Amino acid sequence: MIRIVTDEPRFFSDLGDVLRLFYGDVTVSLEAGDVVFEHHFAEAGGLWTDTWASQGKQVALSRPVSDDAPLVVKRLRKRQVKQALYELLKALTGMRPPWGSLTGIRPTRLLYEAMEAGMGLKEAVAYVIETFDVSPDRAGLLGEIAQMQEGLRLAPAGCFDLYIGIPFCKTRCSYCSFSSGEIGDGRLVAPYVDALLREIELCRAMMEQAGLRLRAGYVGGGTPTAIPRDDLERILAAAQAAFPGAVEWTVEAGRPDTIDEGKLRMLKDRGVTRISVNPQTFSDDTLARIGRAHTGQQTVEAYRLARAMGFDDVNMDIIAALPGEGVADFARTLDVVQDLAPDSVTVHSLAIKRSSRLHEQLAVAGNGYGQVSRDGAAEMIAMARRRLTGGGWKPYYLYRQKYMAGNLENVGYAKPGKACLYNIGNMEETVSVLALGAGAITKWLFDTRESSAYDDFKSRHDHSALRIERAPNVRNIAEYIARVDEMAQRKRDVILRKSFENV
Ligand code: SF4
Repeated sequence: MIRIVTDEPRFFSDLGDVLRLFYGDVTVSLEAGDVVFEHHFAEAGGLWTDTWASQGKQVALSRPVSDDAPLVVKRLRKRQVKQALYELLKALTGMRPPWGSLTGIRPTRLLYEAMEAGMGLKEAVAYVIETFDVSPDRAGLLGEIAQMQEGLRLAPAGCFDLYIGIPFCKTRCSYCSFSSGEIGDGRLVAPYVDALLREIELCRAMMEQAGLRLRAGYVGGGTPTAIPRDDLERILAAAQAAFPGAVEWTVEAGRPDTIDEGKLRMLKDRGVTRISVNPQTFSDDTLARIGRAHTGQQTVEAYRLARAMGFDDVNMDIIAALPGEGVADFARTLDVVQDLAPDSVTVHSLAIKRSSRLHEQLAVAGNGYGQVSRDGAAEMIAMARRRLTGGGWKPYYLYRQKYMAGNLENVGYAKPGKACLYNIGNMEETVSVLALGAGAITKWLFDTRESSAYDDFKSRHDHSALRIERAPNVRNIAEYIARVDEMAQRKRDVILRKSFENV
């Protein structure tokens, strides 16, 4: 346990995240701990100075005092306090995390902020390296992503994206962090579908009133294809009738054992443009170990069936650092993926959340489900990047989560013309997302300036002028079914209260 003594306790949770970059999943407290990190802040001579000390070492950082707006001042203060602690931790451990001092922010966001402030791409990449100690390799990755997103990142005015959550799976993966009330085994499917149809209908009226049209739809989960075909069809049909005109419809057909010809035919007939068939790994031993009741061969067969039926945009998700897997196992999974040649590949680094069964197993059973070392995880991620980019896939979106193996990242790679608009808009927060179903979180973008300032398309997407409001649905399936009208009302309160400000 680590104790923080700080003059800035308002940043406690962010400081804990910086400590975890170096020490993994440690408990951090303001009251007690075996090791103490002490912070002092001083404002003198026109400078802010933050000094951190621990275990006989001390680091101080200074910068000129800012007289910007209070929100900007808070952001600058937070960055400096975190950066000073980060420098001390580097001195104490000799480690340099790949993403430097970044925690709790999308790395691409910083790159775009720098570009919105007038920097060119190269200059912005250099700024991210210098300011946040991001490794040149990772900053370069951000630059490649920005190039892939050119022309795709900003949605036309008056559009929104749609997310529909289907929270059912046949069995639970050991790393799943949903509770059983949040991921159902199928018994609540019928009332859930009815509730979802009601939410779609209530939101249809809302979008009509706001004068907005759908750009991209995404059905995720759970595993949408785990529910009966007719139920999934009712949901898709209702959503497409309520929100017509989308240029892209993705359905996650996650587990191969939930896919059959009838379901794929229905998705094709309903105009679904993109599906995801997710191996995670092609090792049957690992699949059994992580609680997925299918084999690698089933994934290959489901994928081939989708191709034979004319799906020309198929994604595959794989995971690095799965329990019990070494670099050679991961390389074998990559061999099969490259051989099958899906249109896009999403490479995840396993995040073991505290609420997952795997976290419990690791804590209780020692290292019986051991993960590869930090270096091993980094090697897997580097190998995936090298081999995929060498094979014609390019990185097009990226995000990080807490508790990720080796402090790494999740990256979506796509062949030219196959980048998913929904993924880009959602990750970069450049389009409002109407989210339906249990646990889905609606994110609505507002321009904080006068609506008369909307004349310049690019300025509408200047992040410094955007405010994002969220309307979350309850996560528990039974609660969602019982309270669906209230969920729609939550969205109405956010979206229509200031709909004239929508971007
Ligand atoms: S497929 Fe996803 S949602 Fe379903 S059990 Fe596995 S991790 Fe959880």
